[in-house]
Amino acid sequence: MTDFTSVNNAVQQKKSGVTLVAVSKFHPYEAVMEAYSQGARIFGENRVQEMREKFPPKGERPDGMKVYLIGQLQRNKVKKAIEWADRIESVDSIPLLDKIEAECTALNTDIEILFEFNSSGEEQKSGFRSEEELLAAVDHLSDCPHIILKGIMTIGPLGGDEERNLLAFKRTKALYDDVRKTHPEAAVLSMGMSADWKTALECGSDEVRIGTAIFGERIYR
Ligand SMILES: *Cc1c(COP(=O)(O)O)cnc(C)c1O
Repeated sequence: MTDFTSVNNAVQQKKSGVTLVAVSKFHPYEAVMEAYSQGARIFGENRVQEMREKFPPKGERPDGMKVYLIGQLQRNKVKKAIEWADRIESVDSIPLLDKIEAECTALNTDIEILFEFNSSGEEQKSGFRSEEELLAAVDHLSDCPHIILKGIMTIGPLGGDEERNLLAFKRTKALYDDVRKTHPEAAVLSMGMSADWKTALECGSDEVRIGTAIFGERIYR
């Protein structure tokens, strides 16, 4: 069932060197280990509690295994997220940034983040709602010495057709280019999921987050 190998081959064939995050939400740790045995090293989870229940703590994981939090993070779960995640890819407000900085200070640790951009303008989506808001958060990083900005993440339009996907991904790429003028080290552009990763790679993505195509359909309980 778990097929990291063919998905990774297809992704690398389209654009070599791309990071493939294997999104394991709603799938058990056995599936994670099956993908790991096929070469997967980075896993994506969208809920803090599920991540902590499924994955061993940092330092006790199989060689090279990392877990990224990719789902919306509530401020009251920030401490628990920082303790477990190697990166938070869904930072979407300045208050959340402040909370992360405060918890990192208390835990005496740094954390890698991506800023999430709502590139499709869909109401139900998280992410910064405009370029200006995201760039203001980039400026605010000067007050956050424990936070390491690694790049920008977006989720393509829900059920998007090619045209809407292109619009959203190109808009995110332009914003990413802007951010890199002041933060050249923020070199990750994370866009693309099972249904739209090819378009995302054509628009400049260098990290795709793929669940269904690797692990099969999720069974929501
Ligand atoms: C679930 C999820 C994915 C993976 O979606 P698939 O369509 O199963 O590939 C990618 N990114 C985020 C933020 C997700 O929540």
